[in-house]
Amino acid sequence: MTLAIQPLAGLRDAYGRVARDLRVSLTDRCNLRCSYCMPAEGLAWLPGRTILTDDEIIRLVRIAVERLGVDTIRFTGGEPLLRPGLAGIIAAVRRLATADGTPPGTALTTNGIGLDARIDELRAAGLQRVNISLDSLDRQRYAALARRDRLPEVLAGLAAAEAAELRPVKVNTVVMRGVNEDDVLPLAEFCLERGYELRFIEQMPLGPRHGWDRSSMVPAEEVLGRLQQHYRLVPLPGRGAAPSEDWQVLDGDGRPRGRIGVIASVTRPFCGACDRTRLTADGQVRNCLFARTETDLRTPLRDGAGDLELAELWQGAHLTKARGHGIDDPGFEQPERTMSSIGG
Ligand code: SAM
Ligand code: SF4
Repeated sequence: MTLAIQPLAGLRDAYGRVARDLRVSLTDRCNLRCSYCMPAEGLAWLPGRTILTDDEIIRLVRIAVERLGVDTIRFTGGEPLLRPGLAGIIAAVRRLATADGTPPGTALTTNGIGLDARIDELRAAGLQRVNISLDSLDRQRYAALARRDRLPEVLAGLAAAEAAELRPVKVNTVVMRGVNEDDVLPLAEFCLERGYELRFIEQMPLGPRHGWDRSSMVPAEEVLGRLQQHYRLVPLPGRGAAPSEDWQVLDGDGRPRGRIGVIASVTRPFCGACDRTRLTADGQVRNCLFARTETDLRTPLRDGAGDLELAELWQGAHLTKARGHGIDDPGFEQPERTMSSIGG
């Protein structure tokens, strides 16, 4: 006789929010050096022995799905395509069953480099959705802000995702004052023409130390203002726990062109609806992007802890989830890890 797994109450925090969306960082390494995310050089990599193996990741995701009510897994990094076992991890995750008996949803956030070569394998493994980061269509500007001249490979990745019908292909753009504000309209047109969903993200204080200040951040309102000079924007309802506020884009004659979103994490925080939990590449649970404490699952896992014990530790991590990210609090301190090591 097999005993049914006893699901726990889920990842509920003190404010009644329940996390069902798991972000798994597969590596802290990256083939780009976007200035808002990583320093140009000198960032120490996580030691190799601390990085979870594919089997360890699969086990922790299984615990999250089977015991903690997680139903969607997004793989990120660093650059998740640098992880050789990515397709195998996705395939294993798709063999799991969520509370309603269906496989978990799977998504990938990537810079797109090398995606064209791996898209068939990833799709066959069960990848359902992809978000590709693209901050400029100008090759020189891209090379300057990502500190690597690799725009053609990103565009090839985007085209491959479209050809593989991983729709809707989503594009993430961080807008930076004095760097790529001029790209807002060209990027919008590029994405609308191809049916990609573009989301403009406010830059958050999660990159190199002292690399952010509120006055030079480009607020979502300003981005929307630029878009409104060329399009009519009609707000789309039904945001739920999604970070993105979405708009139907109409041209001057009122014809629908597509959909665009803004992620206003700084100026219009959505912490009250947050349903995220995060697992870093070295096996730490983070209950928030901005958390200053983490819960270590790697050590107990390697010391032989059972599934129930790991699930309870994960649950405990969410009891201390803060009400909000606190960027505006006078005592706000940026987390030790940069975005590349947290997993965005
Ligand atoms: N390397 C992959 C990529 O770039 O899509 C996945 C990891 S990256 C950390 C995930 C997302 O976080 C990207 O869309 C990136 O633009 C965004 N990001 C990184 N640093 C950020 C920051 N300081 N503020 C806002 N978004 C940031
Ligand atoms: Fe790499 Fe993504 Fe960070 Fe850019 S945003 S440096 S691609 S992890």
